[in-house]
Amino acid sequence: MSQPYSLLILPGDGIGPEVMAEVRKVIDWFQANRGMRFDVSEDLVGGAAYDRHGTPLADATMAKAQQVDAVLLGAVGGPAYDSLDFSVKPERGLLRLRKEMDLFANLRPAQCFDALADFSSLKREVVAGLDILIVRELTSGVYFGEPRGIHADDNNPDNEGGRVGINTQRYTSGEIRRVARAAFDLARKRSNRVCSMEKANVMESGILWREEVQWVHDNEYPDVELTHMYADNGAMQLVRRPSQFDVIVTDNLFGDILSDAAAMLTGSLGMLPSASLGAPMANGRPKAMYEPVHGSAPDIAGQGKANPIACILSFAMALRYSLGEGAAADELERAVEKVLADGVRTADLMGPEGGTPVSTAQMGDHIVAA
Ligand code: ATP
Ligand code: MG
Repeated sequence: MSQPYSLLILPGDGIGPEVMAEVRKVIDWFQANRGMRFDVSEDLVGGAAYDRHGTPLADATMAKAQQVDAVLLGAVGGPAYDSLDFSVKPERGLLRLRKEMDLFANLRPAQCFDALADFSSLKREVVAGLDILIVRELTSGVYFGEPRGIHADDNNPDNEGGRVGINTQRYTSGEIRRVARAAFDLARKRSNRVCSMEKANVMESGILWREEVQWVHDNEYPDVELTHMYADNGAMQLVRRPSQFDVIVTDNLFGDILSDAAAMLTGSLGMLPSASLGAPMANGRPKAMYEPVHGSAPDIAGQGKANPIACILSFAMALRYSLGEGAAADELERAVEKVLADGVRTADLMGPEGGTPVSTAQMGDHIVAA
């Protein structure tokens, strides 16, 4: 019999533990009904870890994260921790995981469930059936490049205020190639199309980006359809006719903006999953962490109101990308779709027509039943 899949679950703070409890139900269902075996360990992260250990991520937890097939994270942070020193803030736990696991590819799917098409900021006919995946480079680019800082602009008497703020967009060919490979690998599991976005018309890093993505394509993924687009045009196309895209690969800054825009194509924050992938491990699968896009939502924490779907869909991504269980991922996504089509709604999904929302636990039960 093959090894069980190893999962590290880090529920975190706020609604994190509430939504993660529903993922546990889904895991139990797959164990009981699909012959899958999971070796699940659970640990603390964020404020919960700070309360126990005085640090938002204990070394032992970090070490465990490096060894498992997938890390599932709920959410971190909350008002109780706002006044903490920056070095022990809950968010630092998350940043440490990303940095030490070297999770350089951030995956944000924007998928429109038909039952929620009216939630989109666009017309139903534009978003119906929408299913795109944005792959954002997460560990380099203008957020990290040196030099950076705010300096006195001493030799420039014409500069009112006398200061200059500097950031540097810097990408190496290796950084571009590895995220390009991640995008091409993902495209092969989907509709086999990648659109790469940059500003090669005005940026040197954009020229390098385009050349290196093309190089990876020509040498390693000639079977995948590759197009290039300037990121400003990409933003326009994303809201004009989003269904033209399958996988979009782009840098850290453009990806930050484009993935938030894409998120609004599909509606509630409570619906949006994400994955962050690193380099392949010995088994050929990438190091990976899966988490809902939303935060700890302190305003509704502890009330059983949170929508667990973002977290459940993040687990579907783990099934697909870390465990090689694509059929199970499809099955889980179909269950979510069915429940929504049946009209089951948590409070965040209530339209103007009203109705009675279900609780976090009830939504999880409906999905398991489906
Ligand atoms: P962070 O800084 O961690 O991103 P945030 O304050 O920016 O946190 P969230 O914690 O995601 O954002 O909350 C934003 C709003 O969305 C809140 O009003 C919250 O209640 C709501 N919200 C977030 N996640 C969910 C969810 N799963 N179900 C229902 N409502 C949610
Ligand atoms: Mg936020």
